[in-house]
Amino acid sequence: MPKTYRHIFFDLDRTLWDFDRNSHETLQEIFAHQKLAAVGIPSFESFYKIYHEINAHYWENYRLGNLDKETLRYIRFYDTLTRFGIDNKQLAISIGNDYVDHSPRKTSLLPNTMETLEYLNEKYTLHIITNGFEEVQHIKMHSSGIAHFFEHIITSERAGHKKPTPEIFRFALKLAGAKRKESIMIGDHLEIDCVGARQTGIDSVYFNPGKIAHGEKITYEIASLEELKQFL
Ligand SMILES: [Mg+2]
Repeated sequence: MPKTYRHIFFDLDRTLWDFDRNSHETLQEIFAHQKLAAVGIPSFESFYKIYHEINAHYWENYRLGNLDKETLRYIRFYDTLTRFGIDNKQLAISIGNDYVDHSPRKTSLLPNTMETLEYLNEKYTLHIITNGFEEVQHIKMHSSGIAHFFEHIITSERAGHKKPTPEIFRFALKLAGAKRKESIMIGDHLEIDCVGARQTGIDSVYFNPGKIAHGEKITYEIASLEELKQFL
């Protein structure tokens, strides 16, 4: 017998807001504006590829509490520049500031985000749980026109804990006045979103557009957002 959900908690980046497309577009603009070809970086694609790897590494360390966000903001660009033989902390700081200023104003959403949120909003109370920066995540949601769908936006900075710790999920439940059994979490990260929710006793949906194989027991799995209508 299916459960009766009342509250849906969404992850934001790569679940609703098209992080990869928006980030790629922002970095392309910064590459041109900061004239990075002139300082010796052979192509935007080479810059993006290196940055992408370095950023993933530092984000994981940020999530684990090994570095603060002020450091994260520039060190990912500092390291990227050094890979091209450029040792310039001021340039890295300037790129880091540009990135945090411009990327949240990008508006691309994952396919079917609007229609799916409109549909779910009729039946459920919607919220966001995100590990992204407080000042950035709100801008993203307003820029892309989805902020009005959500009652509570819970960032890890506000909760004082990051996903996948049970503390942030419990913080979210309490704020929303939601019971675990009436709640479901939807996200693109198997461990951070889905296993995290499961460990707090919350059902979850693994949004897995790449159809990555795994061995975790997750309540539901989808490859596109419109599939949510089949069971919600
Ligand atoms: Mg995500």
